[in-house]
Amino acid sequence: MEQKVLEQKLTDFFEELHSHPELSYEEYETTERIKRELHAAGIEILQTPLKTGVVAIIRGAQPGKTYGLRCDIDALPIMEETELPYKSEIPGKMHACGHDFHTAAVIGTALLLQERKEKLHGNVKILFQPAEESSHGAETVLQTGILSDVEAIFGLHTAAYLPVGTLGIRAGSVMAAVDRFELNITGTGCHGGHPDEGVDTILVAASVIQALQSIVGRNLNPFHTGVVSVTRIHGGNTWNVIPDKVELEGTVRSMDKEDRVFIEKRMRGIAENTAAAYGAKAELLWYPGPPATVNEETWSAFAEDVAKECGYEVVPQRNSTGGEDFAFYLEKIPGCFINVGTGVGYPNHHPQFYADEAALAPAAEYFARLLEEALGK
Ligand SMILES: [Zn+2]
Ligand SMILES: [Zn+2]
Repeated sequence: MEQKVLEQKLTDFFEELHSHPELSYEEYETTERIKRELHAAGIEILQTPLKTGVVAIIRGAQPGKTYGLRCDIDALPIMEETELPYKSEIPGKMHACGHDFHTAAVIGTALLLQERKEKLHGNVKILFQPAEESSHGAETVLQTGILSDVEAIFGLHTAAYLPVGTLGIRAGSVMAAVDRFELNITGTGCHGGHPDEGVDTILVAASVIQALQSIVGRNLNPFHTGVVSVTRIHGGNTWNVIPDKVELEGTVRSMDKEDRVFIEKRMRGIAENTAAAYGAKAELLWYPGPPATVNEETWSAFAEDVAKECGYEVVPQRNSTGGEDFAFYLEKIPGCFINVGTGVGYPNHHPQFYADEAALAPAAEYFARLLEEALGK
């Protein structure tokens, strides 16, 4: 395909996706749009029980392994504040994480690989994954078993910290494990003027919150990264009554498997024992999300080599305490999650987030080369 034709095609598709954002697990129209593009190019779509999302396959004419390329397709419940001519047509929904960019670039890769299938050694499964923003789309895909024969996997994310023409690649842990917790503190409610007659849950909550902040500062290896954030507190409903219950909620981020277990254990110990010291009770509920995103070493080095061949500047990928459900794949399949520079500007999830279309066609070509060369190794 001529470069100009590819650029135009991907730009049009990207803009179409951008103006029609759909939230996690509601990506029905997006799914239809992706299928339409794949059909038009004669690319095989695999049957899956997925309600939204698509898995396509490019079968190389030469024998070889099966590798995977994944993009995500969902948008966010954000009111778009850009002045783009193709801005969201759906109030309160926006592609503010660049998943429209991922989808368009990966469609480009699919088209290029389809053209080159005579020379391709093995197969490429191309996954358009639903519900990344819910943190659980990847698990839904893994449960289908559709990736069971995939021996290496690659993924991409827009990077608003990198200019167009730059990729961020680094081996090791690049994004955090994302866990949610709820913490319920139970005491004895009483008159606000007679705290002696009850167990003050508000005071206990204050002590627990303070003490939780000692975990990262005092217990975690100072060279490691961790975050404990209490983000919601609810207790009481009037001025002269001490409530018998306070509910807390928040999130924990960690970059390392052992730290993840350690932080949870310390939180439980601090909450239960602090509460007990006041005669109250604390119950910690833990809701695990994606693990840390860990890029495999040899594939990261390989991805960097191919990037340089393609004329990209490569910089070390930035550490992030944000999460990414691509981590679920990397837990099972070696591979690399790559940051694609889409122009320095507002960060992901910002109502003015913008991804530069100039980065689309080069990214499509890069991932086509990456998969082609990886299979030909
Ligand atoms: Zn996001
Ligand atoms: Zn994202």
